[in-house]
Amino acid sequence: MICTFLGTGTSMGVPVAGGFGSEMIDPDPRNQRTRCSVWVQTEQTSIIIDTSPEFRIQSIRSNIQHIDIVLITHEHMDHIAGLDDLRSYNYMQNGPIPLFTTTRVIQSIQTRFDYLFGKNKYPGSTTLDMHVIDKPVQYADATIIPLPYHHGKIDVTGYRINDFSYMTDVKEIPLSTKEKVKGSKILVLSGLRWGPEHPTHLTIPEAVEIATELEIPQTYLVHMNAYVNHQESNSRLPSHVQLAYDQLEITI
Ligand SMILES: [Zn+2]
Ligand SMILES: [Zn+2]
Repeated sequence: MICTFLGTGTSMGVPVAGGFGSEMIDPDPRNQRTRCSVWVQTEQTSIIIDTSPEFRIQSIRSNIQHIDIVLITHEHMDHIAGLDDLRSYNYMQNGPIPLFTTTRVIQSIQTRFDYLFGKNKYPGSTTLDMHVIDKPVQYADATIIPLPYHHGKIDVTGYRINDFSYMTDVKEIPLSTKEKVKGSKILVLSGLRWGPEHPTHLTIPEAVEIATELEIPQTYLVHMNAYVNHQESNSRLPSHVQLAYDQLEITI
């Protein structure tokens, strides 16, 4: 099983539009972060979690040739803006792309991408086959378990795929979800910044605490802002929790 981090940046990306403040970002390419998406490949299944605003660029640079299913965590634009770019996969694969998420997020996508659905459907636009996921789903060799948690006012759904668990935009994780994550070999958690505390996101120290509590052998952090320096942060972090970076590929 292979996991490719397509994007690892917070909602505005790093650097932000217009490049404001980019002079303070270390030139190490691992400090350039597109918005969060991840590509998980089992032997038989190619899965995308979230389609960020840079999904077109991410799919080209990682050479994603085929997508079996898309899982969406929540409706914030930094996680869904790239849905439109799935249309080239409709053409290549000659069919709709199955998309799994919660009922609320399906409704939000249908409202905001109204030209993709029903009588409004624009000719040639992305065709999605929408499914609610509220219990484990088996798709070929991938066992997909939804992982609900809190992101400030809204609930988000992360996903466990076999021994890989992915939770971005996390503030608080219920005990019942922690139980589902336990035993994973790899955990991905969001860690916005070293501090101060944030109302809707874990800080890096808060994410480390959760990773340690769950006794996951290796955790990677994503959704970092411009103030997080890759190399300096990783040297401060324990070896079982490290920052991910765009295009990092890990084998599980
Ligand atoms: Zn986000
Ligand atoms: Zn969010």
